[in-house]
Amino acid sequence: MRKTKLSIVIHTEEEFDWSGGFNRNNSSVTHGKELTEMCVDMLELGCCITFAMDWAFVTSEQGQEVIRFMQENYAEQVEFATHLHPWVNPPFDEQQSDIDNIDEKLSYPGNLPAEVEKAKLSMLTEKITELTGIRPTTYLAGRYGVGENTYRILKELGYKVDVSVSPFADFRHQDGPDFSGYTNAEFERDGVRCIPHSSGYISFLSSFTDWLNKDSRHLNKLNNNLFGKIILRVLGVEKVRMSPEGFSSTQIQKLVDSLLRTGVLHLIHSFHSSSSKMCGSPYVNNISALNNLKAENVNLLLALINSKTHKITPSLL
Ligand SMILES: [Zn+2]
Repeated sequence: MRKTKLSIVIHTEEEFDWSGGFNRNNSSVTHGKELTEMCVDMLELGCCITFAMDWAFVTSEQGQEVIRFMQENYAEQVEFATHLHPWVNPPFDEQQSDIDNIDEKLSYPGNLPAEVEKAKLSMLTEKITELTGIRPTTYLAGRYGVGENTYRILKELGYKVDVSVSPFADFRHQDGPDFSGYTNAEFERDGVRCIPHSSGYISFLSSFTDWLNKDSRHLNKLNNNLFGKIILRVLGVEKVRMSPEGFSSTQIQKLVDSLLRTGVLHLIHSFHSSSSKMCGSPYVNNISALNNLKAENVNLLLALINSKTHKITPSLL
């Protein structure tokens, strides 16, 4: 049986109103205890966790407590990586007042001028190095926002792995990156190893699902005509991300089955740290949504680790 790696990447960041604009004052971190509890459940199952941390998290009191706790108790199972939310990460544009929201376009770090993207990422890298004693080598762009200068900058700063690609997703409608031509296959760019966040399609028919997941052009072709659209509807095609945020463990297992059949060797399961606390993110607006997310998360990880049909090994990036 072929071995597949399973990595968990947590977008470790502040709680903020996701539809309320991008402002440097939106930097509150109050979910340290809840995040720790949720992570301990996963670590005790034998999972490994990559904390992709942003400036607001690492400079907050609760964020630093989480880092200390993980280093003292689970040092072998955790990795500290960087996650750049440019709107809360210095150096700031001094022309901009504290209360002004920045343009959505500039919330994607890859859209910043190269020297600004590099300056912000350098400050975050140094801060995480100072706090953890280890220089981070894995990067996750805020809002998956890699741009034309990003990989060169990553290489210059000593990064080895990037997990910013979100296969089949197109964020151009909000000036973000276009990943519609990407599948879940790993690749290399400017000497940086790129492992996509696992996502793709499921349907009632596994061979059709695999065909969609193998080549991003297949779905686009069907979507371009009425007959194709009918096929997609009849076969119950859905797009699924490997995340408990908005997806059930049953949906994710179907996705994982297809990705493994199509040769994917490294799965990335992800969610936002703020989803560990009620009302911390849009996915957990009440207690039953929060409990459901946590239960589905553990169910999925248990099923994957104990799978009789696949050999899936928990792994750091
Ligand atoms: Zn983020």
